[in-house]
Amino acid sequence: MEPFKNLPGECTDALQAMYSFIDGEMPVEQVAVVRQHIEGCVDCFEAFDFEAELKLMIRRKCCDQPPAELRERVARLLAETPPEE
Ligand SMILES: [Zn+2]
Repeated sequence: MEPFKNLPGECTDALQAMYSFIDGEMPVEQVAVVRQHIEGCVDCFEAFDFEAELKLMIRRKCCDQPPAELRERVARLLAETPPEE
């Protein structure tokens, strides 16, 4: 099952790229572009359980510091855009 099959191709690409990033398969400069899209796109933001994935990413890369700025922005965006029921 594709969790984001209803999204435009641009969004699907962004989300798939983000999963690649979590797996450590994407260069940092590409991450910045994808991150920018997801942070500015409500569809992506809801489709991609960003906070959960971020925690997972941090857990996997246990030696890395979590991107505090990103976490703050994610938390703020989540607070501003409650999920539709
Ligand atoms: Zn999007």
